[in-house]
Amino acid sequence: MTPRRQPRPLPNRRAGHVTSQGQPKRAYRTVTEARAAAQLAWTLNRAELNAYRCSLCHQWHIGGERE
Ligand SMILES: [Zn+2]
Repeated sequence: MTPRRQPRPLPNRRAGHVTSQGQPKRAYRTVTEARAAAQLAWTLNRAELNAYRCSLCHQWHIGGERE
């Protein structure tokens, strides 16, 4: 009799929470803060970032399409 394995969390659930370097992303408590940060990134770097609700920490992150 073998113990049942816990299902692993979906990889892309964590992928939205960490950067491509594996560091946790900056989290924003409100979508307003996240959008302000995304706007700033656009102003400074012309980086087009989306604000999205993280399913891991339930806060908001910003990221590009590939993150
Ligand atoms: Zn998160």
